[in-house]
Amino acid sequence: METANIVVIGAGVVGLSIAARLSENNEGIYVLEKNSRTGQEISGHNSGVIHSGIHYPKGTLKARLCVKGNSMLYNLGEKFDIQYKRLGKLTVASGENEIKEIENLYRMGNDNGVEGMKLLNSEEIREMEPNIVAEMALYTPSTGIIEPDDLMHHFYAQISNNGAFVSTQTEVTGIRETNSGYEVSGISSGEKFAFNASTVINSAGLFSDKVAAMAGMDVNELGYSLSYYKGDYFRIAGTPPVKMLVYPVPKGEGLGIHLTPDMAGSVKMGPNAYHVEKIDYTVGSSAEEFRQDVKRFLPSISGRDILEDSSGIRPKLQSVNGSFRDFVIRHEAENGYHGLINLIGIDSPGLTASPAIAEYVSELYENEVKH
Ligand SMILES: Cc1cc2nc3c(=O)[nH]c(=O)nc-3n(C[C@H](O)[C@H](O)[C@H](O)COP(=O)(O)OP(=O)(O)OC[C@H]3O[C@@H](n4cnc5c(N)ncnc54)[C@H](O)[C@@H]3O)c2cc1C
Repeated sequence: METANIVVIGAGVVGLSIAARLSENNEGIYVLEKNSRTGQEISGHNSGVIHSGIHYPKGTLKARLCVKGNSMLYNLGEKFDIQYKRLGKLTVASGENEIKEIENLYRMGNDNGVEGMKLLNSEEIREMEPNIVAEMALYTPSTGIIEPDDLMHHFYAQISNNGAFVSTQTEVTGIRETNSGYEVSGISSGEKFAFNASTVINSAGLFSDKVAAMAGMDVNELGYSLSYYKGDYFRIAGTPPVKMLVYPVPKGEGLGIHLTPDMAGSVKMGPNAYHVEKIDYTVGSSAEEFRQDVKRFLPSISGRDILEDSSGIRPKLQSVNGSFRDFVIRHEAENGYHGLINLIGIDSPGLTASPAIAEYVSELYENEVKH
């Protein structure tokens, strides 16, 4: 049986970021990934938005790690030539209820330390984005876009440079507590494998509740069970109607169907949010649903061609009456699992937060090692 200091389960943006950070100061790190390539699940199916941090209640991990991750991502982009654009974002509102929501977001952004925000009236909105119609908007200049694949390649390169390993086609199917940590076992390229690891980091995205259950945890009791919410994307054909990101006020499980320019300027619409039982990435919505939804703030969408694009799936922690659920990022010693760090329900803004999550996990790990 092989011996590892730290096993990270899952090579999405979060697992890769954690392994890149921990391998700066630690040896014997292995990242195990069930797919034949890294970043093929949530991290390969998202909007690529660098969020500012206006959507999350003060003091939560989502708020703190998003705001910190935002500036860390811009610094990484600058330093390592990862494609990014600081485009700015308008969150638009019309009608009394939506305007109240915008004022809430402004307050939350202030609480979270989001810099440079401004409330705009309809004329100021038109000056910034002539095709957008709304009574009020919140402008957040620190919102941008990044190429998720470039970011993951960067973390992968750091991992290799630091002497750690990523093993693809390696699915973990069992985790058993031992005297010195955990035996992590499964199938790698068709062969059985087993590792003895002092620390296990569960960063398995959509499957992270199942991985926690493998270790023997009662995921229902702990509130770790995930359900899946798919989000589809469509693309607006032809000349881009906007230059910056344009969002409605959030409703339901997502942030509302929004407009996101990509690196080339072409504009994607989405994602929406609907519950699914299975993980498959086929687009299940119609272009017409998207047209009707976006028409409220982009009337010219009526005359435009809309092309089907892609979809992604969110790992949602269950909540009572849709109340806010924070990321679960926890060293499980208090639940009797020394050396097990769980990351569960890492939905949006997980991409933005990924370098800050890595720092946070590194602190949890160092604290555990000292005790
Ligand atoms: C539609 C959508 C849009 C989003 N947009 C944004 C955005 O614009 N900005 C933003 O900040 N965030 C966004 N997010 C959130 C962000 O994409 C995620 O938080 C982030 O990608 C999660 O990364 P991860 O590494 O935790 O999960 P994943 O990328 O899913 O990685 C987990 C990995 O674990 C592997 N794995 C699972 N089980 C096992 C096992 N048993 N053995 C071995 N390997 C295993 C999987 O194959 C997978 O590769 C969006 C999410 C969605 C769904």
